[in-house]
Formats: sequence, structure tokens, C-alpha cells
Amino acid sequence: MAGEPGRSGDPEPVAVGLLPGPDADSTPFWEGCAACGRRRMPPRPMCPHCRSLEATWEVMSGRGRIWSFVVPHPPLLAAYAEVAPYNVIVVELDEEPAIRFCGNLVDTPDGALDQVDPHTVEIGEPVEVCFAPEVDGIVMPRWRRAS
Ligand SMILES: [Zn+2]
Repeated sequence: MAGEPGRSGDPEPVAVGLLPGPDADSTPFWEGCAACGRRRMPPRPMCPHCRSLEATWEVMSGRGRIWSFVVPHPPLLAAYAEVAPYNVIVVELDEEPAIRFCGNLVDTPDGALDQVDPHTVEIGEPVEVCFAPEVDGIVMPRWRRAS
């Protein structure tokens, strides 16, 4: 991966909006099929391609391209209304373009949601994952421009 999750000694956590509630089904989100080699996203016990229950972990490059994006405007939840307008991007992974992640384009892993001017975001831009500092045991993937 291009970045590492927050560790002790990192800067103070910043508000990144609502956090997910990982459970047994959603915690392993980089999962590939041990039988056919295809990747599955969202995570699920059975491979949708070959119905195998076997899975393996695979390290990805953390790189992709902006497949789409939106610029949310109020009315929004209070935590988001304070920083609107901001970007929400959909990233297709270099290794598996059919797997797409939502997130925010930022300049720095601990940057505010409105750190990047949403008018500068372009579909097709190369990006790489980075990780916001840990908040309540959760580390959120974010995206920054790649060269
Ligand atoms: Zn499979």
C-alpha cells in the first residue's frame, strides 16, 4: 500500500465525518477467491464467480483512477454541512477496475474534507490511497493525487 494506517505518535485525529461500523462480514475488504483468483467487493463469504468459500488476502498497489465524483451541497448532516462543498470520489482500482471505492480526494491524509477545491477534480485522474489518522479504532482510506 502507498500509505500506512495511523499509529501512535501520528498527528492528532481529525474529523473525517461518519465512521463505518465494521462487522465480521465487512472487516476484510481486500479479499480474493482462493479457487478462481477473482477479487470480491463488497466482502462476502462466497465467491460470486465460482461459488467457492475459500478466500485469500492480497496486497494491492493502492493506486487507481477517479471513475466519478460528486460535490454534495446542503441540506447535509450537520458534520458535513460545515465543510460543504467538498468532493466525494469513486475510485476504480488499477488491479481490478470493476472494484470501486468511495472516498474523498485530499492533499494530506489528515486534511479536512474541503481541503481540495472540488472544481479541480477530474474524472480519470490517477490517485493513490492514504489513510486518515485513526479515530475510535477506525482508519479510513482516503485518496490523494498520484503523479
Ligand atoms: Zn471464485
